[in-house]
Amino acid sequence: MAIVKNKKFLNGAHVPHHKNTNDSQTLPLPVPERVTILMLQHMGAVCEPLVKKGDSVFVGQKIGESSEKMSVPVHASCSGTVQDIISYTTPQGISCPAVVIDTDKLQTMDPSIHKPEIQSKEEFIAALRESGLVGLGGAGFPTFMKLNYPHPEKIQQLVINAAECEPYITADYRECLESTENIVRGIQAIRKYFPVEVFIGVESNKPKAIEVLDQATRTLDRVTVVELKSLYPQGAEKSIVYATTGKVIPQGSLPADCGVLVMNISSVGFIGKYLEDGIPLINKRLTVDGDCVTHPANLLVPIGTSIQDVLDYCQVPQDYVKVLMGGPMMGIAVSDTALPVVKNNNALTVFSEKGAKLPPETACIRCGRCISICPIHLMPAKLEKAYDNRNTELLQELCVDLCINCGCCSYICPARRHLAQKNQLAKSLLKQRQVKERKTNE
Ligand code: SF4
Ligand code: SF4
Repeated sequence: MAIVKNKKFLNGAHVPHHKNTNDSQTLPLPVPERVTILMLQHMGAVCEPLVKKGDSVFVGQKIGESSEKMSVPVHASCSGTVQDIISYTTPQGISCPAVVIDTDKLQTMDPSIHKPEIQSKEEFIAALRESGLVGLGGAGFPTFMKLNYPHPEKIQQLVINAAECEPYITADYRECLESTENIVRGIQAIRKYFPVEVFIGVESNKPKAIEVLDQATRTLDRVTVVELKSLYPQGAEKSIVYATTGKVIPQGSLPADCGVLVMNISSVGFIGKYLEDGIPLINKRLTVDGDCVTHPANLLVPIGTSIQDVLDYCQVPQDYVKVLMGGPMMGIAVSDTALPVVKNNNALTVFSEKGAKLPPETACIRCGRCISICPIHLMPAKLEKAYDNRNTELLQELCVDLCINCGCCSYICPARRHLAQKNQLAKSLLKQRQVKERKTNE
């Protein structure tokens, strides 16, 4: 089907793109000396290590598993010897075990790995669980759980998110160009068991990706490449569903409740690849960029590689002051570059003192720009006041929990208020109160 230009969009900001690595073909990072593989790299239960100190491991070997429903296994990204099992704290503050592997640089593949044999929808979903796939766009939600929706007959549409609206990041763009065949195979595999209409949403600032995807899917029935307006955060779930299907996801509902599955383009590409070679999720494509990166790149990085190893490979000068896992709008600041790369990382953005410096806050001038730009139609200025007064009732009334932390309000504010940051803190405050109330009522 032909490309469709879409004019529907929720609110958002025109942020600078900085897509310096658009033409940087993905290069494999040399195997590091050591990898540290966290037993929690997804939304859900922590895995238990299946190996112990001194064990030899192969590439792709399952080294972590959980019997909980919401969890996916973890696999070794490198062959070598288990040097230790340590306790680690994730950037989100959750404690989990981690398997430390001293690599042998031989990258010996687990001999039990083979192309999965799939005859039914149940086997397809089970294979996706075994692959360790989580949403590669950033959320880390186990993909098999999305497809295990209790009312699969209601699912009519699949929205494939290739918007990649965050500044600097081009990892999904390179997936579109370098893994086109895998993406097509992934779409076909999903449609074998879920007869959905497919929309691939790509921002208009990526004409090459739009052209390649259109060419590759032209002979497929009910697949449309939708050229989205280049507006941040076009890739946010609610925004892209509205822009591609015209559906509005009501408050408290999931896209699936409205008959829509949403998947990231790299997740779909991974499915296509996994069904061919059976190699689980062990590598991740990362864009490394930022104002003090002189050699920006797209790298295929073994999961568990330390951030410092990636920065050293890109010859990032030592005088950087801020490293973000992700882009400048939604990325999480890294407190320690010894932290390992995990499944849902898609970029490292590194800033100098000048690039990282936030201008001083001044008083709110009640201009209302933060309200008119919010894609979720929240009232950031009022939320800030409610948080400053620790008024959790008002925070709940103003629906702070719906904030997607896109950062548009902070970006547009002429008084440079730290609105998005306050919303993060407000959400934690509200959660703490809810937990306390639940405990009191038990
Ligand atoms: S954009 Fe900034 S100055 Fe304007 S109302 Fe919102 S917080 Fe106040
Ligand atoms: S309030 Fe939340 S969702 Fe709205 S613009 Fe700010 S960060 Fe984005």
